[in-house]
Amino acid sequence: MNKLLDTKVHKLNAEHTTVIEIKDVHLGEGYFTVIAGPCAIESEEIAIKTAKAVETAGAKIFRCSLFKPRTSPYTFQGFGINGIEFLKSLHAETNLLLETEVLSTDHLDKLAGEADILRIGSRNMDNYELLKEVGKTNKPIILKRNMSATLEEFLLAAEYILSVGNSKVILCERGIRTFETYTRNTLDILAVPALKELTHLPIIVDPSHSTGKSSLVPAASKAALAAGADGVMIEVHPEPQYSYSDGEQSLDIPSFEKLMKELTEMANLIGKKITSSVLN
Ligand code: PEP
Ligand code: MN
Repeated sequence: MNKLLDTKVHKLNAEHTTVIEIKDVHLGEGYFTVIAGPCAIESEEIAIKTAKAVETAGAKIFRCSLFKPRTSPYTFQGFGINGIEFLKSLHAETNLLLETEVLSTDHLDKLAGEADILRIGSRNMDNYELLKEVGKTNKPIILKRNMSATLEEFLLAAEYILSVGNSKVILCERGIRTFETYTRNTLDILAVPALKELTHLPIIVDPSHSTGKSSLVPAASKAALAAGADGVMIEVHPEPQYSYSDGEQSLDIPSFEKLMKELTEMANLIGKKITSSVLN
């Protein structure tokens, strides 16, 4: 980890932690923040229905991807930039913060103009030009770990964003590729405390893409909280069986409500403040 010495991501001492404030939401040490929403926005109607449901259940940030990096070019690629209108409606209809994935610099200005948080997906973790461009915005950036990246590589990717002036980076552990095939990826749960040793940046976990199975999402979310994560990003769809993408790993609304209650109880037990609109 020698390359981390003298970097901006480097943790200087035990007390050095960064809490990012986005409007009334805190993300970082001491808080547990839940981001929820569908894999991708499919229509305005479903987006608003899902957003209102996750807000009522206690989530503070809505996952609203307009662009989808998909393994096959023949599967649903997302609504595209015209869906920016949906983000405006979501702002009007809810108090949720909106987070969305940036796939290229082409739409960066428009997305940064409407979303509260930008996401760099795992496939773009080492797209250094894109990292530098999002680094020039003043938006918080969720940076997902590439499935084959070491922690050092992950942190140096974050450094690209910090190095050009944006220190509001939230690291996201989303599972790494191993020989196991039962789960979609292998959730590297110890990445959470290991990263906490190495960096002052907030760390969240994606229990949906790391497991690929809705049945495993509650356990992975609770493991994240127990391991010291500052939040989770969970895929939720009102009818997962009809979802255009990742239905098999998406929670339905009742399962999400149940999980929110369980996470709130657990967070209270371990002295973390869950960033929740209704439950505390
Ligand atoms: C996503 O969060 O939409 C996604 C595609 O996940 P990842 O980039 O981690 O594969
Ligand atoms: Mn997905």
